[in-house]
Amino acid sequence: MALKVGVIGTGAIGQEHIRRLHTKLNGSTVVALNDINLEGAQKVADTYGGITVHKTYQDVIDDPSVDALVITSWGPAHEEQVLAAIKAGKPVFVEKPMATTAEGAKRIVDAEIAFGKKLVQVGFMRRYDAGYKLLKDVIDAGKIGDPLVLHCAHRNPTVPEAYVTYMAINDTAIHEIDVLHWLIDDEWTSAQVIMPKATRNTHAKLKDPQILILTSQKGIRVVLEIFVNCQYGYDIQCEVVGETGIAKLPEPMSIQMRSEEKLSNTILNDWKVRFIESYDVELQDWIDSTVKGEVNGPTAWDGYLASVTSDACVKAQETGAIEPIVTPTRPAFYN
Ligand code: NAP
Repeated sequence: MALKVGVIGTGAIGQEHIRRLHTKLNGSTVVALNDINLEGAQKVADTYGGITVHKTYQDVIDDPSVDALVITSWGPAHEEQVLAAIKAGKPVFVEKPMATTAEGAKRIVDAEIAFGKKLVQVGFMRRYDAGYKLLKDVIDAGKIGDPLVLHCAHRNPTVPEAYVTYMAINDTAIHEIDVLHWLIDDEWTSAQVIMPKATRNTHAKLKDPQILILTSQKGIRVVLEIFVNCQYGYDIQCEVVGETGIAKLPEPMSIQMRSEEKLSNTILNDWKVRFIESYDVELQDWIDSTVKGEVNGPTAWDGYLASVTSDACVKAQETGAIEPIVTPTRPAFYN
């Protein structure tokens, strides 16, 4: 029997996930939707047929035909929607950020522990990316010795006007905050944010680019350039410098061209395309584990840890100082 999914938030990634869950992946079907923009939600439902559009997100959660929820609304709405799903005892996949502050994320962790069963998976899809998995295999096998320094970049061609300075952390770098600590199997201890000369392609409320420096418990340093108006493409870079070698995240596959006196490769422009396979693998894993009553992917605890670091990074943006990060003790519930 297919897992019957209710989706809250039918914007860019909501529509992508609805298509996956309803038409592409095995073992799921979308039965109900809600968006604050009801007209938009209705349009999405009409492209498929047979999907109920509810007036509120709570109606989706309460719909007896909904087995599990996917939350793809905007970040500030995630916390209350995830808490409502936990209260109803329904499994929930929530896009990052799970909550916009560590305090909010902790409320989710506490609610899940009080409920007594893991229900929440967070959309950190890079852990499912074939390139990051290969990179982790190389590091774990000791092929470059101990990792020492990571040079990373997260570049978007442009962002909307509503995107402001702190979002470089809790909307963008949150992916690296999660995937890099998973990659090196270590926790963050401090963060610093440096603001270089700003690009003329930004606006008054967005400092762009930014350089985030993270230090881990083992002393590993990450230097992450976040540049969200880079113009030329969507470009994710990660190079790990180890004691005996260097390992680099593979570039997305593209045809190498020799033409018009140039040797060239295409650079992708769209995040949806860059990680298209990772989203598929991630949601298939979510469907399969949800049917078994398990959470196999990144948990609410992972969402909480990312928020703790994200809060310290936002503070570092404001103070310009090196801000400490104190990793909370993992409860046995999340072992
Ligand atoms: P989006 O296009 O703005 O879509 C968000 C949708 O949620 C909009 O339709 C918005 O309506 C709606 N919404 C806002 N508040 C709501 C509420 N209280 N209840 C129900 N719906 C509500 O944004 P997006 O790019 O899809 O991003 C959505 C979330 O996914 C964000 O948290 C984002 O960080 C995350 N995301 C993750 C990835 C990834 O790689 N994992 C990639 C993209 C996005 P209005 O437009 O009318 O406000």
